[in-house]
Amino acid sequence: MPEFQSVRGFHDIYGEELKKFRYLSNLIREKLRLYNFEEIVLPVVEYVEVFQRSIGEATDIVQKEMFTFQDRKDRWLALRPEGTAGAVRAYVQNRLYALKPYVKLFYEGPMFRYERPQAGRYRQFHQLGAEVFGSLEPVVDAELIGLVYEILSELGVKVVIEINSIGCKVCRPAYRDALSAYLAGVEEHLCEVCLDRKDRNPLRVLDCKVPTCKSAVKDAPKMVNFLCEECREHYSKLKEYLNAMSIPYRENPNLVRGLDYYTKTVFEAVSEELDITVIAGGRYDYLVEEMGGPPTPAIGFAVGLERLSMLVKSLPPEDPLYLVIPFGDVLPYALQVAKALRAEGKRVEVSYKKGGLKKQLELANKIRADYAVIVGEEEMAGGFYTLKDLNSGIQTRVEFSPAF
Ligand code: ATP
Ligand code: MG
Repeated sequence: MPEFQSVRGFHDIYGEELKKFRYLSNLIREKLRLYNFEEIVLPVVEYVEVFQRSIGEATDIVQKEMFTFQDRKDRWLALRPEGTAGAVRAYVQNRLYALKPYVKLFYEGPMFRYERPQAGRYRQFHQLGAEVFGSLEPVVDAELIGLVYEILSELGVKVVIEINSIGCKVCRPAYRDALSAYLAGVEEHLCEVCLDRKDRNPLRVLDCKVPTCKSAVKDAPKMVNFLCEECREHYSKLKEYLNAMSIPYRENPNLVRGLDYYTKTVFEAVSEELDITVIAGGRYDYLVEEMGGPPTPAIGFAVGLERLSMLVKSLPPEDPLYLVIPFGDVLPYALQVAKALRAEGKRVEVSYKKGGLKKQLELANKIRADYAVIVGEEEMAGGFYTLKDLNSGIQTRVEFSPAF
């Protein structure tokens, strides 16, 4: 084993995995462009309070998952565990609300959480997220969920979009009480963590993965039955718009999110096959104000790129690859051939390996070239090159005169 290893939970991404990453990222970015979202590049490090205030003290992220450290002046900083808190901080700090009636932003980058590494769970992972600030209209929720659906269907991945409403300041307190009372009655079936959660953050119990907790909350009161008039109207409009756009979804009355800031609509894209959530989002109508901005309703989602990548089995084919093989004292001419092919937009590698045709064709095979471009002294003298289709074996002579 080499002396130096990457830190546990931190990975190098390269090869096919990276190609998949870039493919996903480009596809999502293109969708966001079509919906007229603008990119924002956010810092990886923020003051700890940015996350404590927004994500909430009683959440897993703040209690045990953050990478925090002190700088040289003893200020507490954190590697960002998610993107929304920083986006809200930036929205308020840069007064982005002053520019337009509403603002549509997206961000992409690494996030950090001190979790137990396992399949699809890393300590550094990558998210691409979008946020809409400044509108309480359910059409925004519908468009965001529609956008998520378009991404997933274009990728052909098998996931279900689940939606729920978790209410607002008006209606959630009564629900919380009802849920707490219910949980007190099923205490003996709850895991240790949930026993602790049931009073401080009872909604989180609905999200617990432990089987006994899952069955204990089956008959728990549902938030949808407690929604106030405004939240009920919002939720029913959302469903009406999704139906109008033929976007399939499933209502999951036990769907909650692990962060405190959510209100009204929450949604997730879930793979039942792998039992993982790949995209998660929701409204957070009070957060901007809580972070010191003007009252600004908002909604967003984040795609976990590693998770989505687990569902994407194959990539679209790459452009054909050309291997230029110089034989003899022909390098200047061979380089001109390579240059001309690249100028046509072709993907070209010049062989850096010395050796006869057999060695060169082995190289072509290793780098998975589709064409060999053979350039020997005869080719140079005659002003052409020999193009060999490596799949069919067919060779053709292609006239070539270097552009000086
Ligand atoms: P989970 O319940 O799986 O822990 P979460 O609710 O903590 O997820 P969010 O905070 O909503 O996740 O993050 C949004 C998305 O980011 C998730 O749906 C997932 O795709 C991805 N994600 C979250 N944590 C990790 C991680 N440790 N490693 C890889 N991807 C992650
Ligand atoms: Mg988590």
